[in-house]
Amino acid sequence: MKRFRALVCLLMLLVGSATAQQVKYIFLFVGDGMGINHVLGTELYNAAVHPEMDNGGQLSFTRFPVRTYCTSHAVESLVTDSSAAATAMATGVKTISGYMGVDADKNWIENISEVASKQRMKVGIVTNVGMNHATPGAFYAHSVSRGIYREIFEHYLASGVDFAAGATILCRKKEGLKADYYINKAREAGVYVTQDSREAADVKGRRVLLLSDSLTRRTMRYAIDRTESDPTIVDFSDAAIKYMSREAIDSGFFLMIEAGHIDHAAHDNDAVTTFEEINDLNSSVALALKFYEQHPDETLIIVTADHETGGLALGYSNYKMALDRLAHQKMSMGALTRRMQQMRKTGKTSWTDMETLLREELGFWDKVKLREKDEAQLKKTFEKNYLENGDLVVGLYASNEKMASVAIEILNKRAYVKWTSLNHTGAQVPLFAKGCRSAEFMECYDNTDIGKTLKRLISK
Ligand SMILES: [Zn+2]
Repeated sequence: MKRFRALVCLLMLLVGSATAQQVKYIFLFVGDGMGINHVLGTELYNAAVHPEMDNGGQLSFTRFPVRTYCTSHAVESLVTDSSAAATAMATGVKTISGYMGVDADKNWIENISEVASKQRMKVGIVTNVGMNHATPGAFYAHSVSRGIYREIFEHYLASGVDFAAGATILCRKKEGLKADYYINKAREAGVYVTQDSREAADVKGRRVLLLSDSLTRRTMRYAIDRTESDPTIVDFSDAAIKYMSREAIDSGFFLMIEAGHIDHAAHDNDAVTTFEEINDLNSSVALALKFYEQHPDETLIIVTADHETGGLALGYSNYKMALDRLAHQKMSMGALTRRMQQMRKTGKTSWTDMETLLREELGFWDKVKLREKDEAQLKKTFEKNYLENGDLVVGLYASNEKMASVAIEILNKRAYVKWTSLNHTGAQVPLFAKGCRSAEFMECYDNTDIGKTLKRLISK
């Protein structure tokens, strides 16, 4: 009887795998630095601050049928960088932080884009930071250093990536090259290079490289700071999906979209800017969901992160949260820093001037009541760190005025939001999946399982 049951199970498995639907269209969204609390925090923030949003500000992907979490550590440390984490997702192999597309012994490992190209699927890599930065790079390059931008770009040119998009092409200062040099190289290689999303979407039968309008900016502008004319990750995602919908409808595609700026805002410990970046990611996922509705049987959507950044705590005192108090922040910490630096140039900034700035841009005093100790801290920071020393908080991607950093920290604390790190942490990251073969991602425990599962799903 036992043998008979085992035989039946085996038969069922064989029948199941024989009839398993082949995945044809794959979307992999990576929220760089987007921990589990960043996702929940965004939903709670939306509910409190953006009541006009659909579904009370719920993110489209948090209700996906597959909701799990993955470990993210690198080989040498329990806390990874983006390069090792993206390598794990792209190749299914763990590596050392800083390495890209190679294992800990520096051996090249085939990535999901290469497997997809072999299967004649089209490949798209989209980001709102540099197109040769760590996360996008791990999906097409193989390097022992994430900082060798020239090599990473050359690997892009030699790769099978059909549609690439990013804020700019990053260059190392000491190489003395600018983005223009790389653009010419790309054009010589037959790539259609444009800074116009609509134009990129319409390119037929050629590789495309879409860049933002300002190549000197290393990233796109934060969602909270941008003007109507600034390009967005949503525009780039839309262009990529339109391109793929036409060029790859028969062959299928693998499209990785990174919301890379979430990480930068979290390195600054700037909650509102972080949450608004996640809303941008959500809008990009909404575009993928529209595509899914037209091809529900063959489309897979995954939304995940490479690591957690900032050690974000939601509620740190008195069992409370008051995220509505974040509604009055009108610019990022970086933009606030620039305003403070402009004020300093006048050489006669008074406390009243600083008070006016904080009142207008963060809602202090009028809309967000400050405690005596908050006000005392602000005044002390103004006199000592701002006027006397001009102190900066030097982070990985930005150097902010200490005055701006303290002000945003106070605002976050008034909302009962607190950060425990200016860097990455070893926390698990969320994974959401929907569509064709999405149930197989329920088995993912570590970030390498994402790469392994993706490769398995498209290998014939
Ligand atoms: Zn980071």
